[in-house]
Amino acid sequence: MPASALHQVALKTIPDLGLEVAIDLGPQWFARWREEDPDLEFAAARITGTVRLEKHALDILVRGNLAGRLDLACSRCLAAFAAPVEVAFDLLLVPGPAAAGPQDEELTPPDLDLDYYTGDVVDLESILREQILLLVPLKPLCAESCRGLCPQCGADLNHETCTCRTPTANSPFADLAKVKI
Ligand SMILES: [Zn+2]
Ligand SMILES: [Zn+2]
Repeated sequence: MPASALHQVALKTIPDLGLEVAIDLGPQWFARWREEDPDLEFAAARITGTVRLEKHALDILVRGNLAGRLDLACSRCLAAFAAPVEVAFDLLLVPGPAAAGPQDEELTPPDLDLDYYTGDVVDLESILREQILLLVPLKPLCAESCRGLCPQCGADLNHETCTCRTPTANSPFADLAKVKI
């Protein structure tokens, strides 16, 4: 079912009581995303959860609960590690202009993100991608205490010690460190 795999939900399929969509995003889903966006910063992931769609007149309330893991690379030691992730979101979709201009912040009710939908379809695919991107840390760390790689020999200082001089000794900033202000 390619249509549902792409998470496009036709408005007319949303009953008055709301529609609950089971989300199960595995390797294939992420592989397809990666093909479209080679800069994706995580190797793989598994995310499951539910998204509930409710019609309120012309607006669509989207409430999601997602949890799973992202396989990230540590920004200090480059090791791959799995980070548990979890997010709950409420999003209000309002009928938007065909080409949505900049959003008017004043219209956004507090605690509710506002977005547009166009046509008669909710593009759950891009909502899911957006939410998952928000889960990716700016500087992923395998552990807060990660010691990283030696800048000179590349040794993984979490697992080995190297014989390089301490970086400050030869660095142009070494003298600065001695300056007492
Ligand atoms: Zn690390
Ligand atoms: Zn070293």
